[in-house]
Amino acid sequence: MTLTIVRLYHDLLGTYGDQGNAEVLIHRARARGIDVELVEVSPHAPVPTHGNIYLLGGGEDGPQTAALEMLRADQGLNTAATRGATVFAVCAGFQLIGATLPHADGSTIAGLELINVETVYDSSPRSVGELVITRNDLILTGFENHQGLTRLGSDVTALGTVISGVGNGIVTDNAKKTEGAQVGNIFGTYMHGPALARNPELADEVLSSAAGELVAYDDYWASAFAAERRFTLTHLRRK
Ligand code: GLN
Repeated sequence: MTLTIVRLYHDLLGTYGDQGNAEVLIHRARARGIDVELVEVSPHAPVPTHGNIYLLGGGEDGPQTAALEMLRADQGLNTAATRGATVFAVCAGFQLIGATLPHADGSTIAGLELINVETVYDSSPRSVGELVITRNDLILTGFENHQGLTRLGSDVTALGTVISGVGNGIVTDNAKKTEGAQVGNIFGTYMHGPALARNPELADEVLSSAAGELVAYDDYWASAFAAERRFTLTHLRRK
């Protein structure tokens, strides 16, 4: 089997280096002997529907709205997600796969509705800085830079719980500060970094959601880098 990774519009949604998530997935797949092809999709080009993993990154409000309008008109990502393909979407990408979000002009627009989350802008300061969360028993890290705050629908699970930073920024009923979202094979997060370079375990989770069970792979430098970030950030917390 060849695993097809589709990187969507990184020329529009590449501001924060999230395109590196594709390289990490390719590297970790090949290390397991999995054959991989990377399909780059530029704005206005059709989105292939046969992909196994679709990647969206972060960007400014204007490019985010442009990307959303093209993806909505194309419908390829919706078709693939309905078929069960994996989607890993960061920040602007996370917001635009939701139900509603702010348009670049400030009005509220419908997203791709792949998951039931709503993003709003309020008067709180922009969320900028290191983000540290727990996911099951793991600590994950990234950096965040967003104005939008995201409310999860009742059928949506958070990706994790915030230890420091803002994450989704809307406190839930049980007073938990949540970060990101997961519904089946669809993952959303505010973590840049790229998130999958800083968190090899999350990279493997995303990979195995499309490729099945993975054999063990010890990538010394990736693990050492993740451990260093986790150690530093849990000892030097942002105020
Ligand atoms: N424009 C969005 C916001 O500010 C997304 C930002 C981003 O992708 N980093 O909330």
